[in-house]
Amino acid sequence: KKIKVLISACLLGDNVKYSGGNNLTPELVTLLEKYEVKTIKICPECFGGLEIPRVPSEILGDKVFSKDGKDITEEFLKGAEKSYIISKKNKIDFAILKERSPSCGSSFIYDGSFSGKVIQGKGFTARKLSKENIIIFSEENLEEIEKYLEKLSK
Ligand code: SF4
Repeated sequence: KKIKVLISACLLGDNVKYSGGNNLTPELVTLLEKYEVKTIKICPECFGGLEIPRVPSEILGDKVFSKDGKDITEEFLKGAEKSYIISKKNKIDFAILKERSPSCGSSFIYDGSFSGKVIQGKGFTARKLSKENIIIFSEENLEEIEKYLEKLSK
């Protein structure tokens, strides 16, 4: 039986980032290819109705603002909800989400000042998924991902 992994689409090379680019992580792709994995791609910000490209955004407390000052919290909540529904429907085993994103970051996010300062915290989709007890890794923890894949393949 294939291991089902929910994954930030930008990590697999989809051009869904705010800049219109991606975060392709070849070492992650190579790792996933070693196992019987089915990937289920999400982009919570696209699900929330935000455009590509879009103005970058950061979390400030329990809200999200774009760099030009718009409150886009609703779009982020919608994207998180849709991502969760897709996780449920696909009965995923775990998730791999892009670190530091205001949607996908699972350990770190930017501090809301648009000055490049990173703080501990979770993006809106990571908050929702972890509240629902879904295990999340980031692309920066390949060793942990490999250990978990190893465990699930047994
Ligand atoms: Fe990637 Fe997540 Fe940002 Fe979409 S919302 S571009 S999947 S980090």
